[in-house]
Amino acid sequence: MQEKGNISIHTENIFPIIKKFLYSDHEIFLRELVSNAVDAVQKVKRLSSMGQYNGELGNLMVDVAFDADKKTITISDNGIGMTAEEIKKYINQIAFSGAEEFVEKFKDSKDANELIGKFGLGFYSAFMVSDKVEIQTLSYQDGAEPARWICDGSTEFEITEGSRTTRGTDIILHINNDSEEFLDKYKLESILEKYCRFLPIPVRFGTKKSFDEAQDDNVDDGVDADGKAQRKEIDVDNIINNTAPIWTKTLTDLKDEDYLSFYRELYPMSEDPLFWIHLNVDYPFNLTGVLYFPKVKNDMEFQRNKIKLFSRQVFITDEVKDIVPEFLMLLHGVIDSPDIPLNVSRSFLQADSNVKKINSYITRKVADKLGELFKADRKAFEEKWGDIGIFVKYGMISEEKFYEKAKDFALLENTKKEYATLGEYKDKVAPLQTDKNGTIVYLYTNDPAKQDSFIQSANKKSYDVLLMNSPLDGHFISNLERKLEKTSLKRVDADVIDKLIEKEEKIESVLTDSEKEKVKGIFEGAISRTDMKVEIDSLSPDELPVTVTMDEFTRRMKDMAALGGGMSFYGAMPNNYKVAINGNHKLVGRILKAGDEAQQKQLAKQAFDLAMLSQGMLTGAELTDFVNRSIELI
Ligand code: ADP
Repeated sequence: MQEKGNISIHTENIFPIIKKFLYSDHEIFLRELVSNAVDAVQKVKRLSSMGQYNGELGNLMVDVAFDADKKTITISDNGIGMTAEEIKKYINQIAFSGAEEFVEKFKDSKDANELIGKFGLGFYSAFMVSDKVEIQTLSYQDGAEPARWICDGSTEFEITEGSRTTRGTDIILHINNDSEEFLDKYKLESILEKYCRFLPIPVRFGTKKSFDEAQDDNVDDGVDADGKAQRKEIDVDNIINNTAPIWTKTLTDLKDEDYLSFYRELYPMSEDPLFWIHLNVDYPFNLTGVLYFPKVKNDMEFQRNKIKLFSRQVFITDEVKDIVPEFLMLLHGVIDSPDIPLNVSRSFLQADSNVKKINSYITRKVADKLGELFKADRKAFEEKWGDIGIFVKYGMISEEKFYEKAKDFALLENTKKEYATLGEYKDKVAPLQTDKNGTIVYLYTNDPAKQDSFIQSANKKSYDVLLMNSPLDGHFISNLERKLEKTSLKRVDADVIDKLIEKEEKIESVLTDSEKEKVKGIFEGAISRTDMKVEIDSLSPDELPVTVTMDEFTRRMKDMAALGGGMSFYGAMPNNYKVAINGNHKLVGRILKAGDEAQQKQLAKQAFDLAMLSQGMLTGAELTDFVNRSIELI
């Protein structure tokens, strides 16, 4: 038997295009060929279980070997094999509509995945790295003859009698000069590790022997008396994959330890995760997976791209941007969906309707799981909040649907480490913290140490102060204000306490209007800064005599500008500090009564510096002056 022919496409030669335009991602040839081999093995397994194949199955496996001297890489399997007719049908007739369209469309393409996926060119990706590709195969069918196909990368091929004596296929790649990097143990190992780690059929790597010889070895190994025969026979040392990763198993068969050990297998350097979600859906799309909530050590140090995407256990990518909602990009784990085609490309993913459904499914599952945890054990949930909070807040900010679910379990934490849901919190603070216009004012601090005097003032009035010190909280606060009715959030140092939450009843001033003017003049004389405005307020006598504040709006704009939010206009805005003098404090009375103007000014300056000091705003020469002046006063 010998036959020569032409691969049926109309353009001279597509292989130069494959090679020339697809210089990135050459390594996926191995994923494609090993996947084909796995498919072939699974097919024979299925035929056998359906009673359509009665031969010995043997140790079903795929073997990857290379020979640096001969410059070959061989991918072998004991799957269904092919007859010469099948080679002609499946290999020679490249399944795409028109080669010209193909060439036109992809001559500038750099995305090998797109091309391979679109045109079913899995097998032909071999030519990205080979001068010549050879197939040696023997079909499982009774009386089948071994066949050999060889092609040198032109459109000409040759089919002759083959040499395989056992069922299955060898794909022998004669590696081209530009691709010699692949004739390396570590290189091949790392590619296999990346794409084939969880394939459902054992993949062996490392021998130089042909598959036939390897099979013979197995026979020699014999069967162990204690039943460990299987493992020994297939030389388990060289098996590179875990054929039954946990996402393929039934939920009820799994214990916490299984999830944890799988996590450690995937991320050996990471701390144990907080909890996980087992995904499993088969309608309207198929998807399994396990998503882990990691311990976020440093808020700023987000570790992205930790979710791996698989299609029937073949690794595809760890760029899951379009499949996993943005706010869950910090999660770890795996997603496997045969509905996401093996050869995905960016543009495809974005347009795919399944992908959108998957995205909202994941959002819903995560929200449900968090809700469950909250209901099942509130205390444990509160303890984890430090780690989970960042995800939940991010989700609430970025996804309306998630907000709707999360609003029932999202927690607010106050400075006393007490937690409340949004609903609980409203009920808790509304009685005392509603201002004269009916707006509920939530107070918060982003730096309890620096804003301590303000927090104490608030607490004296039995006001509650929320802790909002994560980098997302700025956005979270604006989001809450948009969502919650008649509620505003103010940082506790945005004004003196009586003005933060303005009430009907006013504290009477002990100063006359002319005394107020006088006090104002004294302080204006003592404070040399142009970005500060002095104001006389009538506060409770036990409030601090002097307080320096910046109003909520100005401060937010400045924060935003500092974060580079494109609002540099506000960055240039003056600071507009307010120096609030408590006219009812006895120190103010003392200043008024002090002997001469110099003395008045000195006392005012001292009181102002103390306020600055308590807010961590007194630095440099001003701090030194203050210390020297204080020593003299003592
Ligand atoms: P796809 O896998 O997307 O169908 P390929 O170009 O990778 O496209 O393969 C074409 C066909 O060749 C396969 O569908 C299969 O029928 C056949 N084939 C490829 N590799 C093997 C193999 N190792 N064993 C048996 N058949 C194979």
